[in-house]
Amino acid sequence: RVHCRIRPLLPFDTAAGHSISQDRQRNFSEKVAYAADDETVLVKCSRPGHASINKTFQFERVYNASESQDTVFADVAPLLTSLLDGYNVCIMAYGQTGSGKTYTMLGPQLEENFAFSTEDESELGIIPRATQEVFRLISEKPPGSYWVEVSVVEVYNNEIFDLLAKDSCGKVFGVKRDVVTTREGKSDVPLLTYETVENASEFLHLVNKGLQLRVRHPTLVHAHSSRSHLVVTLTITTIVSGDNFGTSWEGEQTSQRLNKEVSCTFPQKMRDNKSTSSSRASSPAQLEATEKLKQVKTRLQLVDLAGSECVG
Ligand code: ADP
Ligand code: MG
Repeated sequence: RVHCRIRPLLPFDTAAGHSISQDRQRNFSEKVAYAADDETVLVKCSRPGHASINKTFQFERVYNASESQDTVFADVAPLLTSLLDGYNVCIMAYGQTGSGKTYTMLGPQLEENFAFSTEDESELGIIPRATQEVFRLISEKPPGSYWVEVSVVEVYNNEIFDLLAKDSCGKVFGVKRDVVTTREGKSDVPLLTYETVENASEFLHLVNKGLQLRVRHPTLVHAHSSRSHLVVTLTITTIVSGDNFGTSWEGEQTSQRLNKEVSCTFPQKMRDNKSTSSSRASSPAQLEATEKLKQVKTRLQLVDLAGSECVG
């Protein structure tokens, strides 16, 4: 599905700093894109000496400049239910530098450290909101039946950097990683760091640390723009019994008949959680006792793409 968001005019949209003729300066900060209705964008193309042309473009959903982060996220939220039902989900922002990709995906950026601000919850973008929603949905499930791992990757000049990799002192630094093609023909980054997170604030802390490493190259349009792609991945692992293993679980999931070996791969926190008797998947002993349990992984990929004016 393709949605289109129009952001409000901002001070840097004015002619200041652009070497253009007086004539054009007057029109420079004029509004040209309008949400004609919630599925149509109207673009007014006017050039001096030419008759103005109106063009319309259709999308599944169009947001006008006054529509909030909340409204945008509301259309995305149902995808997260699908995620826990076993579907892989990818949400990406595409557009030229300064068009609002990072604002939409993360929220407003803090000036001093390039992290995103969590002070004003209403300004939070899709990435923190999606994570909150994933943990909310998980909290409705039996305790210990789902766990979440995070990886944060930057793609810059065709190179992949692991933004959660740590040096020997535990300090986060961006390490270049190789991509390999697996026997099944899929691309994989084998040495990528995956961190287990238990709640949304742990996640935000982790992503913020990674974000501070993000490679930035100021452009004329907007000083904090980025020429790198940012890919935040949440890997959700769950246990389903053979009976529940219906058609909705088809796809990229890994499934295995649980045995001692598989249950030993549980994160430490999971293994220690033996006291929770309500949980089917809370202890390896219980798991082994249950017939035909399968471990299933689904992925949520949240992508803030580099400015699309660089695609050429
Ligand atoms: P991009 O990541 O596409 O280069 P940004 O997300 O950095 O663009 O947005 C550019 C500027 O516009 C930022 O200062 C951002 O806070 C602001 N901005 C973007 N979209 C909106 C919006 N919908 N409402 C208010 N400010 C916005
Ligand atoms: Mg950006």
